[in-house]
Amino acid sequence: MTDLLSWGIEMEKIETHLIKKVAKIPRVCTNCRKKIGEGEIYHREEGISKHLHSLIAREFCTECYSKYGQEKLIKGKL
Ligand SMILES: [Zn+2]
Repeated sequence: MTDLLSWGIEMEKIETHLIKKVAKIPRVCTNCRKKIGEGEIYHREEGISKHLHSLIAREFCTECYSKYGQEKLIKGKL
């Protein structure tokens, strides 16, 4: 028997974290829409769970990262 309640709880537990990367092509910050130029550092969201494969990873500039921090950016409550 499928336990729908515990499945729902599992879904909420899926976590992502931000990985520091260097932009190889110009990007745009998901939060402030600022341009992240080639060679600049940005923070890309990656899922701990492979279930997140289908989601589009968010990308944040260093400014937003230092201003809000990883946790707030991931939760989207700014
Ligand atoms: Zn930003």
